[in-house]
Amino acid sequence: MSANFLGLTNNFPPFTVSQGLGSPGQPAQPTTLAKLKANRFPTNVCAGYWGRDLRCRIGQDATQLKIRDLLATELLGTGLRVGLYLPVHEYSKATYPITGVGGDRATSGTLKCSCVKESGQNADRRCNSCYGTDFVPGYRKFGYQTLWIASISPGLVVNNVALNTVLKPYRWELLPNATTGSIETPDLPIAKTIVDGAWDFKNDWVSRDPNSSVTVYFSTNQGSSWYSIDSLPVINPLVGLVRFRIVISRPSTQTPSPMWEVFRARYPTIPVAGRLGPWILMLRNQVKRNEIEDMRGIVEDGSLNFWTMPLSMFDCNLAQQNTIDDPGDPESLMKEPCFIEFIDGFKQGERWSVTRVTYTDPLGFLIRQFFDARKQQQREFTSLVF
Ligand SMILES: [Zn+2]
Repeated sequence: MSANFLGLTNNFPPFTVSQGLGSPGQPAQPTTLAKLKANRFPTNVCAGYWGRDLRCRIGQDATQLKIRDLLATELLGTGLRVGLYLPVHEYSKATYPITGVGGDRATSGTLKCSCVKESGQNADRRCNSCYGTDFVPGYRKFGYQTLWIASISPGLVVNNVALNTVLKPYRWELLPNATTGSIETPDLPIAKTIVDGAWDFKNDWVSRDPNSSVTVYFSTNQGSSWYSIDSLPVINPLVGLVRFRIVISRPSTQTPSPMWEVFRARYPTIPVAGRLGPWILMLRNQVKRNEIEDMRGIVEDGSLNFWTMPLSMFDCNLAQQNTIDDPGDPESLMKEPCFIEFIDGFKQGERWSVTRVTYTDPLGFLIRQFFDARKQQQREFTSLVF
């Protein structure tokens, strides 16, 4: 019985499971299926077997890279843009610097916050210096370089002010006989390679009288000339040194002094290119049943699940993991208690607290991160975060 396909009859001998393949012109030698399999296909390994070592096969076949690339494509095509705020811990990575003044490390030092009380050892959740994380500056926005100066930063040059250590966190206020005073920071190094990305800043202080004020100035020439902080995005300093001066003033010595606490400024370190920029992309894991079934419109949902890639996909400053033996960059992992802020869509501007972070790293190769988030409550302390 010969195979007949489109009217053509081939001359090869018939093949059945009870026969082996013969070479053309020669009849097939009868054999058993078991013998055939034993000769040509091992029966005790999985499909795609490539060698004796499964790990070797996965590594050589770059399976993990392929999976990661597929997921990255999916994320680039359909992912939502969200800003990511990562908590600052005691040991920030030096190559991902937050440039504060002093601290344990000169360029990336974070400080134990002055709001942490001797008795309870707990941070004040409404604290503008650490936002309840115990460490100044509390959070860093992913994709940005943050400069910060707190009331407790070392190396400050002060004039006519005293540090109020009765209230926590500590703040600088005018001396009893002064109506104006200042706090000046050392020079902080900057390297703003993205010319278009705008400077952003926030000054936190406590007002106790509407006629008094706290104003910030900056200098890019070691204090020879000063500019109002409002002109920082316009002047747009790129490379070199920048220092800040905080001026406290009040109309008379009878007026309660304003109290200055902390100043922050930042600029983006990731350029905008297509869907990528100083943010991350993420996708929903699943849509909840009540959202599918509700016919009246959008259901305000209290919790969401998302996934994203290793952060090295979004930030070239982080080393990408390229083989299963490569340790990659530990900073590629999202860390709690981080939170996200929606950039697009009807949730734009909403902040969601991440309540759980997990990830998949088969054979140690970081592929994907999953996180659960809940919508932040009104007056929640993370709503303060710059
Ligand atoms: Zn604090």
